[in-house]
Amino acid sequence: GTRQQALFIIFGGTGDLAKRKLYPSLFELYKKGFLKENFAVIGTARRPWTDEYFQDVVRKAVTDADTSKEDADEFAQHFYYQSHNVNDTEHYVTLRKLAQRLDQKYSIGGNRLFYLAMSPRFFGTIAEHLKSQNIVTDNGYNRLIIEKPFGHDLASAKDLNNSIGRYFAEDSVFRIDHYLGKEMIQNIAAVRFGNNLFRSLWNNRYIDNIQITLSEALGVEERAGYYETAGALRDMVQNHILQIVSLLTMNMPASFTESDIRREKIYALKALQVYSPEQVEKNFVRAQYGESSAGLKGYRQEEQIADDSKTETFVAGKVFVNSENFSGVPIYIRTGKRLSKKTTRIDIVFKDVPKNIFGSERLGKNILTIIVEPKGEIYLQMNVKKIGQNFGLKVQKLDLLQVEDNSVQIPEAYEKLILDVLRGDATNFTHWEEVAYSWKFVDAIRNAWDNQQIPLPEYASGSMGPQEADDLLARDDHHWIFTS
Ligand code: NAD
Repeated sequence: GTRQQALFIIFGGTGDLAKRKLYPSLFELYKKGFLKENFAVIGTARRPWTDEYFQDVVRKAVTDADTSKEDADEFAQHFYYQSHNVNDTEHYVTLRKLAQRLDQKYSIGGNRLFYLAMSPRFFGTIAEHLKSQNIVTDNGYNRLIIEKPFGHDLASAKDLNNSIGRYFAEDSVFRIDHYLGKEMIQNIAAVRFGNNLFRSLWNNRYIDNIQITLSEALGVEERAGYYETAGALRDMVQNHILQIVSLLTMNMPASFTESDIRREKIYALKALQVYSPEQVEKNFVRAQYGESSAGLKGYRQEEQIADDSKTETFVAGKVFVNSENFSGVPIYIRTGKRLSKKTTRIDIVFKDVPKNIFGSERLGKNILTIIVEPKGEIYLQMNVKKIGQNFGLKVQKLDLLQVEDNSVQIPEAYEKLILDVLRGDATNFTHWEEVAYSWKFVDAIRNAWDNQQIPLPEYASGSMGPQEADDLLARDDHHWIFTS
C-alpha cells in the first residue's frame, strides 16, 4: 500500500475503544505497510502512565495468535504517552512540544490526526485547545475523528457541531459510524449500481418492502450507565440503521466519489417521512427485555438501571423515504438486545409477478438478502421448475456470495475507516447534514414516546422481540423474513 505519514493524537488513549479497536487496527495498517517509519502515536488520558507502560499496553492489545513478538515490539516503539486533563490549558502546551518533537523525529511533515475516543462532552474543549494552543499545524493536514454519540437530539447535536465547527471545517471532521466500514455494507453500492438487473428493479415499482435487522444476543452488559440515558432508538436507529436506509434508497450518484455519494445520501435522509405523534404510535414499537426463564436478569433488574426505567432495549418501526423512487415502499427496521441471535441483515422483498399463470402452483417471493454479520452472505430467492415429468414449481435460494472466514478476508471496519481518514476520503463517514436529518426523524419518535402514553411491552429474552413487532408487519399483510 501507499505509505502514509501521520502523527496520531488519541484522546482517551487508555480507554476500551482505543485498546480493543484502534491499536489493533493501526497495527494491521502497520503490518500491511500503510504505516511504517513516518508515523507516531501520542496516547493521552488522565492516568499518569509512562511511555514504557503505555507501550506494554499497546503490545498486549495487538498480540494475538499470528503476531510475531518483533512486529509488536517494533510497532509499539512508535507510541508515546502524555498524561493529560482535557480541561487544563497547560497540558496542551506540553502536548504541543511532544508533537513537534515526534514530528521531527519521524519526519512526519505536519500531518495530524486527532482521534477523540472519549465522552463527546469534551469534544468542544479539545477542539478549541487544539487551535488556541497551536497543536494544529500549517504544513500538513489536521483531521478530527470523532465517535458516536453525536448529540442526544437535534438541538444538542447542533450545539456540538457548532462547538467543533468553530475550529475545524466540515471537510476535516470525520464522524465515525463503524457500520459504514463494514465490508458487506459497502457491498450495497456494488450490488445496486454494478448490476443492471438490480439497478433497474431498485424502486417502488418493483420493490414491495425492505427489512433491516440489527439484533444482538447480549443484554446491556457494562455499558448500562450510558445505555440507560440513550436507548435503542438513539444508540442504533439514529446512526447505523438510518445510514443503511440511506444507502439502500439513495439515487444512483453521478460518480462513485465522496461528494456525489454524500449528495444522494443527504437527499434520501431529507426525504424521510417525519411522523406526527399519532403516526409514531401506529408505526413504531418499543419494548424492554424481561427476566428470562433461564435465569437472566430483566432490563430493569440490571445494575445501574432504574426499577421503573422507560428506556427501550428494542425498537421496530416502519419508515418511509418519500423520494421519487421510494415513496410508498415500507422499510421495516428493528434492533434490540437479548434477541435470539446476533445478526445484521437486509432483506429486499420484490413484488409478485403481475399474474400467476401457473394455476394452483404457489409462487414464492423474490427476496435479495444481504447478511452483514455474523458472516458476509448474499442470497437471491427465486422460483424454478421442480425437476421431473410434471410441471411444478419450487422456491430456490441462489447463493451469490459467501465470505468463508470473516477474520481472514474482511478487514476490520476500524482499519478501513482509519485508512480512509489518512487518505482524506470521507465517503464512509457521516456528513453533518445526514446527522441533522436523522435526528429530526428520531426526535419526533422520542418526543411522542416521552410525552404520550405509548405502551412499553416486555419481550422474552431469546425471542425476536414483542408480538407488537410482528403485528406491525401483519397489518400490511407482510411478515419478517428472518424469524429466528
Ligand atoms: P472509556 O470510558 O473506556 O474511555 C474513556 C477515556 O477518556 C479514558 O482513556 C479516560 O482516561 C479518558 N478521560 C475521561 N475523562 C478525561 C479527562 N477529563 N481528561 C482526559 N482524559 C479523560 O470509553 P470508551 O468505551 O473507550 O469510549 C470512548 C468513546 O467512544 C465514547 O464517546 C464512546 O461513546 C465511543 N464509542 C465506544 C465504543 C466501544 O466499543 N467502546 C463503541 C462506539 C463508540
